[in-house]
Amino acid sequence: MKEDRSVSAAAVERSLDPASEAEWVELRELGHRMLDGMFDHIRGVRDMPAWQELPARTKSDFAAEAVPRTGVGAEAAYESFVRDVLPYGIGNAHPRFWGWVQGGGTVVGMLAEMLAAGMNPNVGGFNDSATMVEEQVLRWLAELMGMPEGTSGLLTSGGSMANLLGLAVGRCARAGFDVREEGVEGGPMLRVYCSTETHSWLNKAVELMGMGRVSLCPVGVDAEYRMRMDELSEAVAADQAAGYRPLCVVGTAGTVNTGATDDLEAIADLCEAEGMWFHVDGAFGALAYLSESLRPALRGMERVDSLAFDLHKWGYLPYDVGCVLVRDAEAHRAAFATGASYLTAMERGPVAGGIRFAERTPELSRGFRALKVWMSLKSQGVDALVEQIEKNVEQASYLARRVESSPELELAAEAPLNIVCFRYRGASDEENKEILMRVQERGIAVPSGTMVEARFAIRVAITNHRSRREDFDALVDAVVAIGREVMG
Ligand SMILES: *Cc1c(COP(=O)(O)O)cnc(C)c1O
Repeated sequence: MKEDRSVSAAAVERSLDPASEAEWVELRELGHRMLDGMFDHIRGVRDMPAWQELPARTKSDFAAEAVPRTGVGAEAAYESFVRDVLPYGIGNAHPRFWGWVQGGGTVVGMLAEMLAAGMNPNVGGFNDSATMVEEQVLRWLAELMGMPEGTSGLLTSGGSMANLLGLAVGRCARAGFDVREEGVEGGPMLRVYCSTETHSWLNKAVELMGMGRVSLCPVGVDAEYRMRMDELSEAVAADQAAGYRPLCVVGTAGTVNTGATDDLEAIADLCEAEGMWFHVDGAFGALAYLSESLRPALRGMERVDSLAFDLHKWGYLPYDVGCVLVRDAEAHRAAFATGASYLTAMERGPVAGGIRFAERTPELSRGFRALKVWMSLKSQGVDALVEQIEKNVEQASYLARRVESSPELELAAEAPLNIVCFRYRGASDEENKEILMRVQERGIAVPSGTMVEARFAIRVAITNHRSRREDFDALVDAVVAIGREVMG
């Protein structure tokens, strides 16, 4: 017998929108309160702890709550958000948050996110306004990064995806055999060169791409944590002699540990001479290219075949948004176009011109993350961004000077850009870690930790437009005071 799937007459007409004028009024009023609440939250974030842990009770409630079979309504759901979610974020909006490399978001970015969600286009690359917005943003970003007209690209969920896409395009373009058809078995072993300071996205990427980590050749670094060019040349020559195919060099603009930038000009020369793909991971560091005074350190970056960077780190925009730029637009398309019949272009209408972004990534449906970039650039302008980036670099050297002039502290590495690694002098790794955890737990500030030359260091990565000088003074004072406490 067939199951009775009929629904009531009322349910047939119902949608997920408010059902009556009164419900619309009520939800609109709640929406305005939510917006005001977020304005208050951001405005007052300096007075909050930089981080506070969820109470144990809240954690266990999260773990225990059953699937809500019937809803409690938007008002009650919002109350839960205000009580259990909003106060216990990672803290990255706070002026004294400098952990890992995270941006703190902007108010304009938040508003744009709301508009993007309200309009809710699927930005696969149709014949529509959202596609024009993203294409325009990509054109602006390519120009800002010194890349030529006709550069292809895509906004991504972040640097990891942007890097993966760049490497995948490079593999199709330079493998010397048809990787899409034959897979990695179709030719000699492909080799990818990076430095020992390269971010872990690359391990995941070569694993996912089926090349395995055997394809990776991490090259040593010099005293300034830059890829050693002599070792790189030797490794490429040795691989050629062994019958492998040198595919790509991944240079880094701003390493995650210390903010070092490889000699991109020299890497570009080598790639050109050997027919290798030149990819740069500039997750945060590439943004320094926007500043005339910081640009010289990135010399050669404009010669990339592909460049990956984030806008949710040193572009300060709300999560998530990264970007990949690819010099050869046809190579970009050739890496992902499929010709599926249900995606075929028409002469006119919404799919005139095809679904162009689907030919630049494995993804099909995509969100409107371009809008927050577009609205931020339009409303605040690039110069405002450059001012913040330069401020952060100046703050890093201020902090480095304060560390150097504090007898109880020492720098763990040079601070060439916006990252400062330091320790409490004479304290063990465990003790320095303990100092860091107390600084975080007390909500004073959120640096993170890393290993520099096999020793633990407190690491401050400044991609924060809300930080002021006094915030770095507060950090130094706290580390010194807690250091004394920990050392007894
Ligand atoms: C953050 C970072 C990445 C990864 O980017 P996500 O946006 O976190 O995916 C890659 N490389 C470097 C140097 C980074 O700092």
